[in-house]
Amino acid sequence: MPSFNLLLLPGDGIGPEVMKEVEKVIAWLNINTDLKFETEYDLVGGSAYDNHGKAISNEAMKLAHGSDAVIFGAVGGPKWDSVPFDVRPEAGLLRLRKELDLFANLRPAICYKALADASSLKRELVEGLDILILRELTGGVYFGEPKEIIDLGNGQKKAIDTQVYHTHEIERIARVAFELAKTRKGKVTSTEKRNVMISGVFWNQVVTHIHKTEYPEMELEHILADACAMQLVREPKQFDLIVADNLFGDILSDEAAMLTGSMGMLPSASLGSLDEGTKKRNAMYEPVHGSAPDISGKGIANPIAEIASFAMALRYSFNRPLEADLIESSISSALDRNIRTPDIMQDGMEKIGTSAMADAIIEEMNSRIN
Ligand code: NAD
Repeated sequence: MPSFNLLLLPGDGIGPEVMKEVEKVIAWLNINTDLKFETEYDLVGGSAYDNHGKAISNEAMKLAHGSDAVIFGAVGGPKWDSVPFDVRPEAGLLRLRKELDLFANLRPAICYKALADASSLKRELVEGLDILILRELTGGVYFGEPKEIIDLGNGQKKAIDTQVYHTHEIERIARVAFELAKTRKGKVTSTEKRNVMISGVFWNQVVTHIHKTEYPEMELEHILADACAMQLVREPKQFDLIVADNLFGDILSDEAAMLTGSMGMLPSASLGSLDEGTKKRNAMYEPVHGSAPDISGKGIANPIAEIASFAMALRYSFNRPLEADLIESSISSALDRNIRTPDIMQDGMEKIGTSAMADAIIEEMNSRIN
């Protein structure tokens, strides 16, 4: 019986509310499949700060390192706006990403048929959309040095950010892109700004080299990042998997995500390197949304992003695509029942809360195995 260890970090605001619903899905899998999940819990974010003065404890980090996957809720809220910078709630999230070396961020943009009218684009452009944006998460201009504002002493200042990429950083994200493409349509679109940035020329060269030497059977296309942004709103279905550096990936993944509707629908995965010995990789799964203090405690948060994040764990950490498909198709058919949490409410639909949405998804899962 395949047995896996999950660390659940619910966090703040609606984090614990949506995590409660994922626990129902985990319990369902424990009962109805051969999978066995053991779960451990810890604090992160503002709740951790309130408890012990840090955004995440060393003990929680130890659990994260020992787990097969971390399932994260959300952190932050106005209550902690004035805590010191190094212990602010987001510091917990950043420590997890850094210490687990989660360099590959996967953000799918899937447009469910029932929600195609909620997109800002026409239904025919987005219905059935299923693309994956792969963002390099630990390098590039967000981390490069120097990063400073210099006083020039003549009444002027200058600000510097530095875009830095090493060969190995681009190689490893390119390999993740091609490996993921094997499980999709076999096509990778790599994007950069090689027309104006030397780091873009380098990115292009390294991705091309990995393609030629290791994945010649895959299709690779290159597109400038500005053209990519334009094509994403013009004809998004031309793409399957887009790989980008930290900066362009940040922007393009938000753009692609909004093609599909609400924040409450968007899952994500962050992966580390594969350990060749144990064949395991560090991984964290989390909704794209934050702690939503405006709706926290009301029982109306949409649990789909968190549940879909767990489905990604089944796909990318546990190699169980059938169970991942089961959850994703159950989300789709729950939406076909015309039930909606308030964030995705449309005319003529029945408004329901967090638990009722998760229960409907689980009913759909039940109907598929019976
Ligand atoms: P947010 O994502 O929390 O909320 C933005 C809007 O989307 C709000 O109107 C909220 O009600 C709505 N929303 C978000 N998730 C929803 C869901 N599951 N169901 C229904 N509606 C949902 O972003 P924000 O308001 O900018 O930030 C709130 C707090 O969350 C801040 O402290 C911020 O720093 C933090 N934050 C944390 C993360 C994270 O933990 N990964 C990410 C983003 C923001």
